[in-house]
Amino acid sequence: MKEPLIYELSVTGREGVKPPALDVPESDLPQELLRDDLPLPEVSEVDVIRHFHHLSHKNFSVDSVMYPLGSCTMKYNPKVNEVAARLPGFTGIHPMQDEETVQGALYIMHTLQEDIKAIGGFAGVTLQPAAGAHGELTGVLIMRKYHLDRGDTKRDTILIPDSAHGTNPASSSMSGLHVVQLPSDARGNVDLDELRKVANDRVVGLMLTNPNTLGLFDEHVEEIAEIVHGCGGLLYGDGANMNALMGIMRPGDLGIDVMHFNLHKTFSTPHGGGGPGSGPVGVAEHLVDFLPGPIVTIDPALSEEELPYYTLKMPAKSIGRVKSFWGHFGVIVRAYTYIHMLGTAGLRRAAEHAVLNANYMLSRLRDVYPLPYDRICKHEFVLEGHLPDAPDVHALDIAKRLIDYGVHPPTNYFPLIVHEALMIEPTETESKQAMDYYCDVLLKIAEEAKTDPQLLHDAPHETPVRRLDEVKAARKPHLRYEH
Ligand SMILES: *Cc1c(COP(=O)(O)O)cnc(C)c1O
Repeated sequence: MKEPLIYELSVTGREGVKPPALDVPESDLPQELLRDDLPLPEVSEVDVIRHFHHLSHKNFSVDSVMYPLGSCTMKYNPKVNEVAARLPGFTGIHPMQDEETVQGALYIMHTLQEDIKAIGGFAGVTLQPAAGAHGELTGVLIMRKYHLDRGDTKRDTILIPDSAHGTNPASSSMSGLHVVQLPSDARGNVDLDELRKVANDRVVGLMLTNPNTLGLFDEHVEEIAEIVHGCGGLLYGDGANMNALMGIMRPGDLGIDVMHFNLHKTFSTPHGGGGPGSGPVGVAEHLVDFLPGPIVTIDPALSEEELPYYTLKMPAKSIGRVKSFWGHFGVIVRAYTYIHMLGTAGLRRAAEHAVLNANYMLSRLRDVYPLPYDRICKHEFVLEGHLPDAPDVHALDIAKRLIDYGVHPPTNYFPLIVHEALMIEPTETESKQAMDYYCDVLLKIAEEAKTDPQLLHDAPHETPVRRLDEVKAARKPHLRYEH
């Protein structure tokens, strides 16, 4: 027997709400706005509440289950961040207010700029970009303007390793540059010989995701910086996932000239539903003048003795604005709260636990699932979701079967350089028990793959809808209720 849906509970004339008595003059609605063909269910208030409550429970979220989506850093977001972001002093201000009336908000932004500089080892930061990919576009525009400003007009190429995040080539092409892909070597590092072949005076820079999407820290990052700088290019660091590094090492010290951060990953803002995010960009001294503006600065002329005065300034050779107003302020408040709740030592501990957790899971799974790059990982690792003794079972079958055990599948089929990739990132917030459950399930599924592959081909079994066409489900969702 199936529980009736809200459409089936409808009874003509049943009412859910009683609108208040009319206290304005009555007037007729324009006829063209009225329709007779809108059969909304006529139900009571409790039926509506139950309908939406049930729907909300059909979602996976990091508040309900482990969600080890590689490269996404689905860490738990402490609720105190939400409390801070909802303080009336923050929600009640308007970006067009005079700056002297919003000194508190500017203080938060300025402090976060300083925090990001300290974490990354950079000389300047913009908080404007709305997400990681937007930060990349901003960074690439900064690099391009740096070269043009020096009168170096022939550079039109960006070098991107094949282990980079997919947004890197996308944002480079959006800025009109040619993308040259670099292969990885057998240990998952950038192939230095291939890099030397293409490092020339056409190169704007190289975009390095480090740790890369295999979860591996490039063992030659300083040599990469040397080669790229040697041909006059700049080194871009994709810092979306700072979870393995924060408090341990500063990318600026490795020779990275420009880098974006994802506040909605590393610095704990809920994400996954498409936003809002925030992708601040940090730069070394020689790029500070090109940052998009305005940037929050302290105006010493207006500062009273103990109290700095915060003001918004456009950098001298700025690439211009990349976002209306001052960026996604609510996300900025959440990141500020997260960073200051943890403090310097806490950030480092979080990074250490993220790395420890990933290596713990890797050590439990590596004897069963093939591991193409056999190294200690950083915050995530990539296995093959294709087992030697179950050739018909694929990564997708394993991912779908995980749903039946009540956990979220890892990223699959990415990065592309691993056959049938399963990319697992537990994050620092998972307990040993939660990770053990996830590993136990993956090991059990590996057994099922051998003994009952059909069970996996047909998974998920326990969900309201079964296996979907993932592209169509996203692009052409079927939202109609039908009998
Ligand atoms: C998530 C991610 C991005 C893109 O960030 P968005 O905020 O989704 O645009 C870029 N690089 C890496 C390594 C990422 O993990």
